[in-house]
Amino acid sequence: MGQGLSCASPHHHHHHHHHHQDGIFGAAQFGDLDTLKSEIETDPSILHRTSLYDRQSLLHLAAANGQIEVVSWLLDRSVNPDVLNRHKQTPLMLAAMHGKISCVEILLHAGANILMFDSLRGRTCLHYAAYYGHSDCLQAVLSAARTSHVAMSWGFARFVNIRDGKGETPLHLAARQRQPECVHILLDSGSLVCASTGGYGYPGSTPLHVAARGGSLDCIRELLAWGADRLQRDASGRIPYVVALKYKHGACAALLNPSAAEPLVWPSPLKFISDLNPEAKLLLERALMEANREREKIILKGSGYSIESPSHSETDSGAIDDTMSEASDSELCCICFDQVCTIEVQECGHRMCAHCTLALCCHNKPNPTTASVNPPVCPFCRSTIARLVVAKLDIDADDIDLSSSNPRKSRRSWNLSEGSSSFKGLSAFGKMGGRGSGRISTEELIDKPNE
Ligand SMILES: [Zn+2]
Ligand SMILES: [Zn+2]
Repeated sequence: MGQGLSCASPHHHHHHHHHHQDGIFGAAQFGDLDTLKSEIETDPSILHRTSLYDRQSLLHLAAANGQIEVVSWLLDRSVNPDVLNRHKQTPLMLAAMHGKISCVEILLHAGANILMFDSLRGRTCLHYAAYYGHSDCLQAVLSAARTSHVAMSWGFARFVNIRDGKGETPLHLAARQRQPECVHILLDSGSLVCASTGGYGYPGSTPLHVAARGGSLDCIRELLAWGADRLQRDASGRIPYVVALKYKHGACAALLNPSAAEPLVWPSPLKFISDLNPEAKLLLERALMEANREREKIILKGSGYSIESPSHSETDSGAIDDTMSEASDSELCCICFDQVCTIEVQECGHRMCAHCTLALCCHNKPNPTTASVNPPVCPFCRSTIARLVVAKLDIDADDIDLSSSNPRKSRRSWNLSEGSSSFKGLSAFGKMGGRGSGRISTEELIDKPNE
């Protein structure tokens, strides 16, 4: 973000109220704490002075420019963290806009209000972080929202889906501004993938519509994987596919074309399990995105478009790659013989790859005669899956047996069958690897108990 917020607007010149005016604002902007200290010694009212045109306070200028020492010094002097400028922007909004994470954190720590709306577009600090794609700032605001009074009075889910003056949620802004990381975080935090700018009951644009306009394949991929509806219409009656065509985003249009193969959707019962083992979740998410990329290749090849971004660029993680590189042939998944076993079934201790695990979840079908949902079973021994954990590949002879049939210990776990309806609706999801990868074939194994 090159545009540092500056006090040097043309409107400042030739005003002469205070000869040191530019001095203190420049000092806040550039982090010159010594100048600020000496100026305030002679005139303490300087602390609350604002620039003439935009009415930026010292705190605004320091926060927008990441001057953490000045921000913390001002807050220590009881400067109001929610002081407003001409556009009713708070210092927190400006710090989030410019991606100054340490300033965001210290302002939140000082009790800055995250539920303030500017007068430009009625946006909050969460909108700012999402629009400008600062995922670290976004995370900081979200975790503040989980613990602050906002969670009590407003509810966290409502805050995540907060609308600006045009009805756009932070997810809309991130999707339109091509910020896939923020899109992912917001979806993971409970943003409604089908939120419409029209409000409840009225047609409007969904995040998928505005992503189609922005033209980011990565954002569209995320939204589709979270169940965004390709057939929802906006106020003009257009589906996202038509919007992508209008803005000449051909590859995006190919994925949004309702006649193109359905993408795999992250099984909804797994979306919001709060104690989901983060490592297992990361592996499953990655498997899902990989499977969708395989599908995309087919779709895009047929449409004459190629994928714009190098594949796996967002999801590669050093930790996982390290794990992969340690694998030997004996760690290969016995279902697909293609991927490394990264997921372990508990209690039996059998292992398979993340792709096959996901296929297992997606394929578990409710029994139509009893309307009950069978919890997924281990494809090897048919025992009910209690938990899925990340298989530890580093061999530690002290506490584990190398035989894969033996149960292993794990500190963290998540409960797959918690509540008998956890897997309700999974049959609605597309077939794993059906078109494209062709390497996952658990269907027969999974279907047997229903017959
Ligand atoms: Zn496998
Ligand atoms: Zn088993």
